[in-house]
Amino acid sequence: MGKIAIMGAMPEEIEPLLAKLENVKENAYGANVYYEGSYGTKEVVVAYSKIGKVFAALTATILIEKFGCEKLLFSGVAGAISDDLKIGDLVIADGLCQHDLDISAFGHPYGYVPEGEVCIATDVTLRNIAKSVAQKKGLTLKEGVIATGDQFVANPERKEWVGETFKASALEMEGASVAVVCNALNVPFFILRAISDSADMDAGFDFDTFLQSSAKISADFILDMVDQIEA
Ligand code: SAH
Repeated sequence: MGKIAIMGAMPEEIEPLLAKLENVKENAYGANVYYEGSYGTKEVVVAYSKIGKVFAALTATILIEKFGCEKLLFSGVAGAISDDLKIGDLVIADGLCQHDLDISAFGHPYGYVPEGEVCIATDVTLRNIAKSVAQKKGLTLKEGVIATGDQFVANPERKEWVGETFKASALEMEGASVAVVCNALNVPFFILRAISDSADMDAGFDFDTFLQSSAKISADFILDMVDQIEA
């Protein structure tokens, strides 16, 4: 049975996961800590990357290349773009793009570099597992493009631009870099976010208020998914 990676960006995003793991072994590597353990019959490796695309790419790579994880699930919080996403709502990415990647001066679309893709799709099987978990639990799960960039967006104009340019429903700071790594290494991956704020003028305050509760909503859902994954 293959190992499953579960990653977040911040300690608050993985603490609810660690609380439910068994036989946890801490492994220090690459200026970070990786928690190997079990959840039910599944072997998992959990880590938080630190914030942003570079740290997230590093952690995803290590989870796959060093710890041998064969699937990767990301759990965390995000800012809402769509009006129908409220604080605490769950959103899964069908695709991820980098909203701050810009060589448009050469006539390329935003988010595109040669030999890359504007939008990388997540694994359909994992998305379907999420949908069946949501149905069983009576939870609403929204699905859409999630846009990633090395910026905390607390600006209605930027949020609107990202929403229109990438047809994105939510934004955060790690998902698309994890997507690039998993896509290149052929590892099925899944990105789940619970909304912590609306990427507007109040985003900083809302984020601080709802980080913990939204992170837990996402983490609890991820563990229900781990139960359903056929490793
Ligand atoms: N308060 C933290 C910084 C949080 S950065 C500190 O001071 O250390 C925001 C984190 O939550 C990122 O990991 C990102 O993925 C996610 N996120 C939530 N809301 C966001 C928003 N409005 N814009 C960008 N990222 C957001």
